[in-house]
Amino acid sequence: MRMLKHNLGYPRMGSQRQLKKACEKYWQGEIGRTELFLTAKRLQEEHWQLQLDAGMDLIPCNDFSFYDQVLDMTLLLGAIPDRYAAVATDVSGNAEIDLYFAMARGYQQHGLDVTAMEMTKWFDTNYHYIVPEFTAAQSFRLFSNKVFNAFDAARQVTGSAAKPVLIGPVSYLLLGKEKESGFHRIDLLPRLLPVYIGILQKLQQQGAVWVQLDEPFLAMDLSEVEKAAFTQAYREIAKHCKGLKLLLATYFEGLGENTALAASLPVCCLHVDLTRAPQQLEELLAALPEKTSLSLGVVDGRNVWKNDYELSLTNIRKTINVLGDNRVMIAPGCSLLHVPADLAHESDLDPEMLSWMAFARQKLQEIRELHDILRGNTALLTANQAAIASRRQSPRIHKPEVKQRTAAVTDKDAMRQSAFLQRQQAQEQRFRLPLYPTTTIGSFPQTDDIRQLRARLRKGDISQETYDSEIEQATVSAIRWQETLGLDVLVHGEFERNDMVEYFGEMLDGFVFTRNGWVQSYGSRCVKPPVIYGDVSRPGDMTVRWSTYAQAQTTLPVKAMLTGPVTILQWSFVRDDQPRSLTTRQIALAIRDEVLALEAAGIGIIQIDEPAIREGLPLRKAKRDEYLNWAVNAFRVAASGVKDDTQIHTHMCYSEFNDIIEHIAAMDADVITIETSRSQMELLEAFAGFHYPNEIGPGVYDIHSPRVPGVDEMAHLLQKAAALLPVRNLWVNPDCGLKTRKWPETKAALENMVKAARRERERAGV
Ligand code: GLN
Ligand code: ZN
Repeated sequence: MRMLKHNLGYPRMGSQRQLKKACEKYWQGEIGRTELFLTAKRLQEEHWQLQLDAGMDLIPCNDFSFYDQVLDMTLLLGAIPDRYAAVATDVSGNAEIDLYFAMARGYQQHGLDVTAMEMTKWFDTNYHYIVPEFTAAQSFRLFSNKVFNAFDAARQVTGSAAKPVLIGPVSYLLLGKEKESGFHRIDLLPRLLPVYIGILQKLQQQGAVWVQLDEPFLAMDLSEVEKAAFTQAYREIAKHCKGLKLLLATYFEGLGENTALAASLPVCCLHVDLTRAPQQLEELLAALPEKTSLSLGVVDGRNVWKNDYELSLTNIRKTINVLGDNRVMIAPGCSLLHVPADLAHESDLDPEMLSWMAFARQKLQEIRELHDILRGNTALLTANQAAIASRRQSPRIHKPEVKQRTAAVTDKDAMRQSAFLQRQQAQEQRFRLPLYPTTTIGSFPQTDDIRQLRARLRKGDISQETYDSEIEQATVSAIRWQETLGLDVLVHGEFERNDMVEYFGEMLDGFVFTRNGWVQSYGSRCVKPPVIYGDVSRPGDMTVRWSTYAQAQTTLPVKAMLTGPVTILQWSFVRDDQPRSLTTRQIALAIRDEVLALEAAGIGIIQIDEPAIREGLPLRKAKRDEYLNWAVNAFRVAASGVKDDTQIHTHMCYSEFNDIIEHIAAMDADVITIETSRSQMELLEAFAGFHYPNEIGPGVYDIHSPRVPGVDEMAHLLQKAAALLPVRNLWVNPDCGLKTRKWPETKAALENMVKAARRERERAGV
């Protein structure tokens, strides 16, 4: 069997988040550079060794990063924005790492004040990368030696298996952003290529046999110019790097209409993600030229489930039949950066649950086992089939009542009783709110006191009763001061919630939580997504207690807070044995029941947050409408059980609506609150242009900063909003929840916000 086994990238943090801890200590000045580098060295060596032990024939290096792999490329290619010139001379002892962290996090030392580079989501993952900044006169040069050092170090451990990983030139440019007009970043390719060629030649001289170039954009929608850039780039590279084996990696999507282009590129091996796009295999097999090998991404690098060997083996065998075993490699679909490190640290999960899962380390084991099965070890296949069958049939996963109910959902369940205008009338009569009603998005500052309370409850230091009564106190005082401030629709403050998804997941059936299932989100920040393993149902009320408690303290309306079905789905590891749309519908029904329970308990205003609806948008445009249709439908199923005079709010905190405005309108929330302050209400133009019919609360101040905006400033934004939208439909609120703010600035800002609303109210003559 000449088929090679390889990996595309390994999680960097360490199973105990050692890298996170070391970086944060370094930033605090608690450890020095030597200790930071030592931690990095140990982690990389440990990860190389375990990949070697797992039988990988090619092992990635330079996949490690102190902050982000795209920023590493920016440093390697010397695309350092001008504003860091002063930092570069300021950092002592030629410390490249400090310049690097300055680009990632900003630099405020020795009288310098330089902002960080922008950060954005890595395709459809929850990983965030640092966006390269380009100018029309952009130049590139070899700046950093990190990749060469990494290759040397990897060779010490893995010998000839070491495979340096770089982001390919076309994707690197497309990941970036033009900082001035008059050019397109792809125009920079001719200036960039010589630097790439120099790097590849240097690696080759160092002894590299294989180099992995990640070109995820090759699996995305491409313009003709971008397609031509791929051809140009790889022709040039092939011409100047003869004998170097290039592995071109795509992931997250299928090659689709780029198949012929991909097959035409002069590279040694093409990697495709069969877990995300299995349908691309047939066409690719027909298109692949004789000299090119194919790397099959058969193990899911985006989820935590055990691989279905039978399925993978079918694809591997089919490929071997066409290409021969010397032209096939197997690997995970994408870098394992997006899954937790090692299942061995999950001592709280029961053996059955463990038998269904695989984290990064186990996924490499799966690659090895697939290889062993092809060599005749059928016992491994039998064991895998048993695990897969157990999950397929388990009564823990499959709840007939949930399935029946989900299947029985009709269009009517996604429809409110009356159209918006009728509801608006009923709600106006019920709540008698003033023009420009004021409210907030839900959470108030989560102080250390509140967080410690939760930690003490978890450790058993305090009783549930003590905890509850402390939370009650925080809630009462939040109600009191909202009244004093003069807000019109109050919130309970969300003091009882650790996280807006975890809180609900813990109370719903079908979820489990890991102890160490950390995944890097950005820099040193890691998240631990819940795992949705089975049919979702709601054993009992989740929020009613806190909302009714808060409502009992005041005669003003208190708005209840729920997290929407799409957001719960999007921020979890999701089961892979049924479509995402079906899982979302199950969650929607659970939320619908909670909405009805709140209504029955006398709550008149209920907010269903959907901040993640946009980030779930498929990467390929052709798939977007289908997604938006089921996502919007799930929201409507959650929201539509109520009477006309119950007011449903939703909240979204991102600022790109133009391309999806009709779907936002289709959600038919009575009120939507959105982030608009940083764009100076510009974003409202999309709503105005569309004649968005329902009520809307454009955020009048940015909650991401401690800055307290003045009354005039907010009143001015309200005037801008009133010029674009009917005043009857406008609400006044901040951009998002206030969880991460401190109390003093929160109070001051909301006080000013209420004043601004009153001023505009008077002006409108009411
Ligand atoms: N209700 C949530 C809060 O206020 C909404 C948070 C969000 O949109 N991300 O915290
Ligand atoms: Zn928000």
